[in-house]
Amino acid sequence: AKEHVRKPEWLKVKLNTNDSYKKLKKMMREKKLNTVCEEAKCPNIHECWSERKTATFMILGDTCTRACRFCAVKTGLPNELDWGEPERVAESTEMMGLKHVVVTAVARDDLNDGGAAVFAETVRAIHRRLPSCTVEVLPSDMKGDYESLHTLMDAEPDIFNHNIETVRRLTKRVRARAMYDRSLELLARVKEIAPNIPTKSSIMVGLGETKEELIEAMDDLRGHNVDILTLGQYLQPTKKHLDVVRYYHPDEFAELKEIALSKGFKHCEAGPMVRSSYHADEQVSETSAQ
Ligand code: SF4
Ligand code: SF4
Repeated sequence: AKEHVRKPEWLKVKLNTNDSYKKLKKMMREKKLNTVCEEAKCPNIHECWSERKTATFMILGDTCTRACRFCAVKTGLPNELDWGEPERVAESTEMMGLKHVVVTAVARDDLNDGGAAVFAETVRAIHRRLPSCTVEVLPSDMKGDYESLHTLMDAEPDIFNHNIETVRRLTKRVRARAMYDRSLELLARVKEIAPNIPTKSSIMVGLGETKEELIEAMDDLRGHNVDILTLGQYLQPTKKHLDVVRYYHPDEFAELKEIALSKGFKHCEAGPMVRSSYHADEQVSETSAQ
């Protein structure tokens, strides 16, 4: 039998499923909305939804045209575009009283604009309904199509997030149809279009990367003017996904955070349970106040 690395104590958390959580879950189904918080069984869901008032919506359907080997979202031919979705996301944002919302999407390689128009409309709908709520977008690489990127940027998101997910060497193994340099260039382009919008990226650790490779990835991100970095532990969603090669100790995350800050990132979240959207509410105020 294959040897498995054992999950350390600090990752064994119980999901908090109280009444308010159940009510919100019900609302999501009624409005036919998907959240990453639920899909990924994120351990932070109670803290985010109830205390910090933040959530991550996944728009453009629940079926992705890609099949990244770390990701639990199902792959296939996606659903019809749903133009009612932007307003429903905005309504839910208002009902949940969110202060910060992350909008991400499956990769819609089947569409010419990669879904950018619906994505942009979602940002606008939230801003219209709840002007105090900050909106972070977390799109795919949109096949490197800068016209689509402009469509999305026209909606004036408060943070632009695009994840490189892993180091250069492992990109091909980990991410489907994505390219390390294309992702970096996308992030650099955002800064050219809108220098005041903070850019952000995320790396999962534990997939077999070395410390040197992580530092190189940090340098690459800073070399493309990325402001915010999040580092979290990769967890295997099902047995069919990539194995966890190693669990990093919280002290190692603390050290990586120090390195990141010394490289000039304005903000870095690093820890075993850190996700791309974790504590995102703090990052807007810290990075855009200059
Ligand atoms: Fe949702 Fe992100 Fe919070 Fe997890 S960390 S509950 S995915 S907003
Ligand atoms: Fe998952 Fe995004 Fe990859 Fe699609 S593109 S499989 S949603 S990580």
